Amino acid sequence: MGWHRTIVTDSGGFQVFSLAGTKISDDGVVFVAQSDGTRRLMPPEDSIRIQESLGSDIIMAFDHCPRSWNDDAELVRSTETTIRWASRCRDAHRNRAQELFGIIQGGISPRLRERCILALERIGFPGYGIGGLSIGEPFEETLRTVRLCVDILPETRVRYVMGVGEPLQMLSLIEEGVDLFDCGMPTRIARHGTALTSRGKIAIKSARFKNDELPLDVGCSCPVCRTWSRAYLRHLFNTREILGLRLVSLHNLVFTARLIERARSAIAENRFPALKSAVEKEYNLS
Ligand SMILES: [Zn+2]
Repeated sequence: MGWHRTIVTDSGGFQVFSLAGTKISDDGVVFVAQSDGTRRLMPPEDSIRIQESLGSDIIMAFDHCPRSWNDDAELVRSTETTIRWASRCRDAHRNRAQELFGIIQGGISPRLRERCILALERIGFPGYGIGGLSIGEPFEETLRTVRLCVDILPETRVRYVMGVGEPLQMLSLIEEGVDLFDCGMPTRIARHGTALTSRGKIAIKSARFKNDELPLDVGCSCPVCRTWSRAYLRHLFNTREILGLRLVSLHNLVFTARLIERARSAIAENRFPALKSAVEKEYNLS
């Protein structure tokens, strides 16, 4: 794939959640292939084999993400399937140059999250994805669940919250002890013309940017902000020029990476609470 830095791949568990017509059994997931419409079985072992062949640095165990965050029977089923599959993934994992992380399920149930963590710790993983979040639950529940998981996990394990990328939410989760995130949001909203800026989100298609010669974010030093104005980016969106989607995506990725770099330095310099309140204050000023 031509990327010479760290690569993290997901197992496909969450992607199943977003596909229609899938069926989950103890053997794995049956899904309809988009390429030829045939039904195929993906067992946990295949997910590991594929991630090993991609050469990722961190690979994820195949998990069962619940379709609903507050359906008790579904949460029990997803937790138990995730635990059984994690053990199969551990057995299938051959390439020791790659780290295999477990995924914790259990919805917003403290009892199920704890059950899942203790069972996964018996199998043994160097890090964990906290999965099944950001699927419609209120953010207070996300925060409470992450806090609970971080409290139970040994301090030496990497803690990775899957699917959260909202700037202020990430800072709140970093404060709880989270190390790693992934999210499709920054590029998804960029393709609809929404830019992340230090003063909150802006919709670049808005008429108020028609003659605005400022960059997307005045404080940003990304190649997009150094080169093009809001008025030009708005023009690209309004004329359906695909370059606009690419440029706002690039800016949103730089914005997100830069925020995490700032959080990392602030932690190292023991001033994270001050950074968090300064970013929150500015973000809410639009
Ligand atoms: Zn920028």
